[in-house]
Amino acid sequence: MISVLSGGTGTPKLLQGMVQVTKPENITVIVNTIENNYFSGVYVAPDVDTVIYTLAGIINEDTWYGVKDDSFITHERLKEIGCPETLRIGDRDRALKIQKTILMENNSLSQAIDIQRKELGIKSLIIPMSDDESHITISTDAGEMEFHEFLVEHQGKPEVLEVNYQKVDPACGVIESIENSDMVVIGPSNPITSIEPIISARNVTKALKNAYVVAVSPIIGNQPVSGPAAKFMEAKGYEVSSIGVAKIYQNFLDKFIIDLLDAKYQEEIEKLISDVMLTQTIMRNNDDKINLARCIIG
Ligand code: GDP
Repeated sequence: MISVLSGGTGTPKLLQGMVQVTKPENITVIVNTIENNYFSGVYVAPDVDTVIYTLAGIINEDTWYGVKDDSFITHERLKEIGCPETLRIGDRDRALKIQKTILMENNSLSQAIDIQRKELGIKSLIIPMSDDESHITISTDAGEMEFHEFLVEHQGKPEVLEVNYQKVDPACGVIESIENSDMVVIGPSNPITSIEPIISARNVTKALKNAYVVAVSPIIGNQPVSGPAAKFMEAKGYEVSSIGVAKIYQNFLDKFIIDLLDAKYQEEIEKLISDVMLTQTIMRNNDDKINLARCIIG
């Protein structure tokens, strides 16, 4: 069995490759929930929803959120009648979010996700990192703001001074999944806002120390492939490179996969993590995803 720790862009691409090189039922995905919140009356679990849509084969791969070929009739109408609609949620995407919101009236988030993944025919297990409520804020030179306010309204532009969130309790199954896995994969996800919230959940680091853990760097050269990881890493005092990522994971990482373009960092990283592998880590097409998955799974 393989556990995969996931955010909502890089790791879902890798998951698309993994389910082609191993049986999907061998995979349990443990997903970041720190950015979850209510928007326009519905519960939004951005990374969880992306993982669900990815494994159901309906993800919009242009944006890595929402359902492909979606319509936006409800979104446009809500804006017309004066609802803030901070997030641009499509109609089919909204239907699944409404279903999750209704399910959560009588179920935990974990249970709601499990019902949805079964309905969508997903064979891999999907577990949220926590069933606790979460709250993440970003301290910036323009003041403290909610995560989506920073990312959407301010388009990630302010200088980031600090990333703030409370540690949570892991959902039922998180620790067991890590303990029972032959391998734990930390996909190429934002190390500060997608992976650290998972590894900082109570007892997760301890479980990782006893597991065989492989990570893929989301940083190539001195830039993330996409998204605001650089600003968050700098705010936390890490150099923006695969060396900085290695420093975040060094306490429990057994093998680190970095990009061929980062050969210059190999020696330095080997001082932190003994097994460093170089390969192409950028996933532009299906072959790239399969090749990276094969490098990890063997
Ligand atoms: P978020 O929840 O949308 O922030 O998504 P994730 O945390 O899962 O992923 C964001 C990270 O994925 C960014 O830091 C990117 O650099 C990384 N990423 C995206 N695509 C790729 C890729 O093809 N290869 C690698 N190595 N990293 C990627």
